[in-house]
Amino acid sequence: YVENATVADVETVVEAAKINAPLAELDAPSLKSYQDAGGFKALMGLRSGDLTAEAIIETLSDAGHRGLGGAGFPHALKLNSVLSVPGPRYMAVNADESEPGTFKDRYFMNTNPYPFLEGMLIAARIVEAEAIYIFLRDEYPETAHLLSHCLAQIREAGLDDGRTIHLRRGAGAYICGEESAMLESIEGKRGLPRHKPPFPAHVGLFGQPTLINNVETLYWLPDIINKGTAWFKDGGRNGGTGFRTFSLSGHVNKPGVYITPAGITAQELIDEFGGGMKDGHTFRAYLPGGASGGILPSSMADIPLDFGTLEKYGCFIGSAAVIVISDQDDMKMIGRNLMRFFEDESCGQCTPCRAGTEKALQLMDAKQWDADLLTELSDCMRDASICGLGQAAPNGLLSILKHFPEDVQ
Ligand code: SF4
Repeated sequence: YVENATVADVETVVEAAKINAPLAELDAPSLKSYQDAGGFKALMGLRSGDLTAEAIIETLSDAGHRGLGGAGFPHALKLNSVLSVPGPRYMAVNADESEPGTFKDRYFMNTNPYPFLEGMLIAARIVEAEAIYIFLRDEYPETAHLLSHCLAQIREAGLDDGRTIHLRRGAGAYICGEESAMLESIEGKRGLPRHKPPFPAHVGLFGQPTLINNVETLYWLPDIINKGTAWFKDGGRNGGTGFRTFSLSGHVNKPGVYITPAGITAQELIDEFGGGMKDGHTFRAYLPGGASGGILPSSMADIPLDFGTLEKYGCFIGSAAVIVISDQDDMKMIGRNLMRFFEDESCGQCTPCRAGTEKALQLMDAKQWDADLLTELSDCMRDASICGLGQAAPNGLLSILKHFPEDVQ
C-alpha cells in the first residue's frame, strides 16, 4: 500500500509492483477537471463552515440515503452511531466487491474515482476519522493503479486534511468483503468474521469506533449535498427512493452497469436497460442479489427491486447484482454452482457453515433432492452461522425447492 507519497513515488511503486494497466487506458481524469466541473464543492463547504456535519447528516436522513454495499443500513444512522462513541475513530471503505455478478463499484472507481473520493473525505471529516483505509479487491489491479494516482493528487492538493489514506489490497477471499472480516484483514490478521455485537461502529478497527462505507454509498454524497434531497428522492419509481446501480448480467442483449430509479422491477430493468432477452432465450428466472440473494421466477419479475421488498419471498437485493436465467439453463446445476461457491469461500470458523455447505452440496448431487433434509439443514445454517455467508448460503437452494421443484424432484 501507498501512503504519504507523491504522484512520482506512486508511479514508481506501481511500476515496481508490476501493475501494468497504463493510466491512459483507463482515461484517468485529472483532479483539476473534476474541480473545474464543480467537484469538491461539498467538501469545501464543510471545511469552510458553510455546511455543518449535522446539516449533512440531516440531509442524508431526509434523502433516505442507505448503504449500498448490500445491507442497506440508513447512512445517517450509521454516521450518528459512530459519532456516539468517543474517538479516536477510523474509517474503512469496503471496495472488495466480491459478490458474484457485482461489478458496479469497479465502474465508479474506474470511470471517475473523484466523486467517490470526495464522498469519502466528507464522511471522514464528519466522523473526524484519524485515518482512512480503502480495502480494494485485488482482482482490480488497474483500479489500484488509478486510485493510487488519484490519492496522490488529492494529497498534493491538501484535500486529505492531513489524514493518512491507506490503500490496502485484498487477497481474493470473498469473506473479506464481510465488514468485520475486512477489519481483521486490515489489522493484518486472517479474515475471520467477528461476533456481533459489538458492532464496528462502536468497536471496529483496532478496537476503535469505525465508519464502514461501500464505494457507491460514498459516490452519492456530493450529489445529494449539492442537488438536494428532493432531487435524490424523486429519482425513484414504484415507491422507491433515489437511485440504484445494477450490475446486470446473464442472457440479456446488453449486460452492464446501469444507474436506474430505485424500485425498478426486473422486467423493466431487462426491457429498458438490458435490451431484452438474447435471441433463442426465454426469460425464466433471475437472481436479484448475486449469489446470496436467492432466485425468483420470471412470473415474479414485477416486484420493485429494493431494500425491504424481496425479503418476504426469501430473497434480497444485496448489492444489486441481477443475473438473468433463461429456459436454456439447468436450474439444478445453478443451485449446485452457488453452493459450491459458498463451500469454497466459507472461512471455516463455524460448523453450520463449514460443514453445512459441504453436506448441502453432497445432498444436491442426488438425482432427486431430499427437500425435507435440505430444508432442515438450511434452517440450521441460517439460525446458527456466525455471519451472512453461512446464513445466506442456502437461499439459492431454498428458492429452487420453492419455485422450481419439478427441476430437482
Ligand atoms: Fe466463516 Fe461461514 Fe461461519 Fe461466516 S458463517 S464465520 S464464513 S464459517
